[in-house]
Amino acid sequence: MDGLTREHFSTQDTVCRLGDPGDCAYVIEEGCVEVLRGEGTDQRLVAVLSEGAMFGEVALLDHQPRTATVRALVPTRLVRIERDHVEQLLIRADPVIQHLLRLLLSRFRHSFGLNPGSYPQAAPLGDAMYALAQDRDLQAAAVRTLSLARDLSHALEADQLELYYQPLVAFGDGALTGFEALLRWHHPKLGLISPMEFIPLAEKTGLIHRTGLWVIERALLDWLDLRTLWPDGESGQISINLSAPELSGENIVETIQNSLQRHGIPPRELRVELTETIVIRSLDVVSGTLARLRQEGIGIALDDFGTGYAGLDYLRALPFSCIKVDKTFVQQLQTSERSFHIVRSALELARELGMSTVAEGIEEQAVADQLLAMGCTYAQGYLYGRPMPKAMVPAWLAGHRARFTPLS
Ligand code: C2E
Ligand code: CA
Ligand code: CA
Repeated sequence: MDGLTREHFSTQDTVCRLGDPGDCAYVIEEGCVEVLRGEGTDQRLVAVLSEGAMFGEVALLDHQPRTATVRALVPTRLVRIERDHVEQLLIRADPVIQHLLRLLLSRFRHSFGLNPGSYPQAAPLGDAMYALAQDRDLQAAAVRTLSLARDLSHALEADQLELYYQPLVAFGDGALTGFEALLRWHHPKLGLISPMEFIPLAEKTGLIHRTGLWVIERALLDWLDLRTLWPDGESGQISINLSAPELSGENIVETIQNSLQRHGIPPRELRVELTETIVIRSLDVVSGTLARLRQEGIGIALDDFGTGYAGLDYLRALPFSCIKVDKTFVQQLQTSERSFHIVRSALELARELGMSTVAEGIEEQAVADQLLAMGCTYAQGYLYGRPMPKAMVPAWLAGHRARFTPLS
């Protein structure tokens, strides 16, 4: 594995010295070492470490010199973990984790009287790790994430969440066919916060379960009003987004069933949207739940199609009723040959499997015309309507009817 090498030491060999730059950590694979603090006559034994133990990780992570001298007590084999390797892992880690790690390290050093300034040979500045530690943007991002995570836990009780509704229309005559419920957070100090920012946070903190329940309940409650926009005998569909932790929740199917029954809403009027990445990553968990939802008559849309590089086999195997082509491909339809091919094959495949198709993110008439010619079923995008509070839907619909053939 890159960044991991082995080193051999004979009895009494020095592995590292107090004050050396800490550019790697070690795991003892065989043998044992002694750890000594202080220098000269002050030197004292603080630990003897044997197989499986790790040392040198603090200096490695916070870029400070070694705080102890380590010597082999018997012939010893060590696995060396390079800083580059750890840096690469850290750079990919969440900013909160990066920030917390640095805070913990500085507290650790402080409480042991190991302040960086106490060593003359400070580690060379300027490489990626040190730059990261100093990076104000990163720190600001971490602080924002931490305080958002804290505030999010009150957002539900404080009535700060709201569902916006974005219309879906039929290609061709523009008839309204349904709405997608999209979550918004009205933060008292920071204003409107995008779900792209707080949904991942809710997933990490476990708040997604309560949030998800709230979304299901509110969307169906709002649907009781919105469904009256269709004349008797016709019906539209309300779509909600579910993320992986929600979908793997124990009683998700029962929760949805109960909510539908309580509000007297036919299951066919609900559609659940799952992203392609969720489906691929948690196929085992998801497939049983999807089958049960489908049996109930609830629609299932594969969201963001094209972004997860899904194999076609599982598309055939799972009970999707609809494919939503991701907006990046829709928006590049006329400029990227690759996007054009992805959209065309998605539409062909859906037709072959008897699924409907939604193109999302349509902003231009020319793109809509081309998608209609390519056989796409439904359209969603700013060209037709932005996500809006429920109260604004009737005014939007009046304007929409004036632009497109009215609902009969
Ligand atoms: P999504 O499910 O792919 O939703 C479509 C996103 O595209 C929405 O962003 C919508 O506002 C945006 N959009 C629609 N038409 C256009 C267009 O013409 N141009 C452009 N540039 N954008 C358009 P939004 O509302 O910010 O939501 C972002 C994502 O957050 C959603 O992506 C979904 O994955 C997630 N999300 C939203 N609400 C919920 C929720 O209640 N639960 C869960 N689990 N996730 C949610
Ligand atoms: Ca969606
Ligand atoms: Ca999408």
